[in-house]
Amino acid sequence: MVPDSIRFMTAHFATARLTRHPDGITAVDTEYIRPGLAAAHIIQHGGAAAFVDVGTNYSVPHLRAALQELRIEPAAVEYVFVTHVHLDHAGGAGLLLQSLPNARLVVHPRGAPHLIDPAKLIAASQVVYGEERYRELYGELLPVDASRVLTSTDEQTLTLRGRPLQLLHTPGHALHHYCVVDLAHRNLFTGDTFGLSYREMDTAQGAFGVPTTTPTQFDPEQLVASIERLMATDPKAAYLMHYSRVTGLPAMAASLKAQIPQLASLALRHAADADPYASIYAQMRALWIELAGRHGLADPAASVDEYLAKDIDLNTQGLIAWLQRQRR
Ligand SMILES: [Zn+2]
Repeated sequence: MVPDSIRFMTAHFATARLTRHPDGITAVDTEYIRPGLAAAHIIQHGGAAAFVDVGTNYSVPHLRAALQELRIEPAAVEYVFVTHVHLDHAGGAGLLLQSLPNARLVVHPRGAPHLIDPAKLIAASQVVYGEERYRELYGELLPVDASRVLTSTDEQTLTLRGRPLQLLHTPGHALHHYCVVDLAHRNLFTGDTFGLSYREMDTAQGAFGVPTTTPTQFDPEQLVASIERLMATDPKAAYLMHYSRVTGLPAMAASLKAQIPQLASLALRHAADADPYASIYAQMRALWIELAGRHGLADPAASVDEYLAKDIDLNTQGLIAWLQRQRR
């Protein structure tokens, strides 16, 4: 656990790894596990600002440094959107809100109770990560005051100084997931709904994307439907938490929509194996190596093992949780 005094010092000396994008959008590396793994986004418009996803408690000093670097007063931040309450996206929300006096936290109604009283969220995350690793990754979750929470409704439009930001409920990765559609600029902020795509795996063919089937609410049909719903907005760019801006969205959407049923069926095929985890892990790794090779990566096995091993692990756990739900 990090005492407050140390947190403060960290805040004072923290730096922010920023990437500027068009339309007043900046990616801030949340420094989760490794650089290039997770990005929070800041939208600036008309002197106001909003965050989309925030990272963990340990990300907060970097987010504060980003505001300083961008010359945004903390009081000018009007919204903190959290696409869903998985801790790599929302774990730092309670701490961040303490330094944003005017911001409201926008969260799906099924996710809101878990940020107001994080006990269940902590317990569920400890099941996935183990208690020790959980503490290292996420620290002490601070509850969010209920009066600062704005629960999302599907197709609701909020405005940031006149810039319309529409919320679409997008189950499939998590039941309580929404995405933000930047209507005027045709940008999407997709959390984990539009998969993962690390910039280290970009090739001349563009971004290489894979779906996330993380525990505990993966649903293949819902996830495909949510991707179709996002694509129906005719987006030009998507901002993923893992990792930031991708374009060429129709090709990536097609690939995600092909992979989702493939992952579900390989899980079903290996459900009765002696060690389903080992077989599902090996099959997913083989599928991604094949796809990465076709995408033009020079050493697809090395890239998959370097950048996607953690995701294969989480996806395998999520597929096993999905198999168990099917049986009930
Ligand atoms: Zn997630």
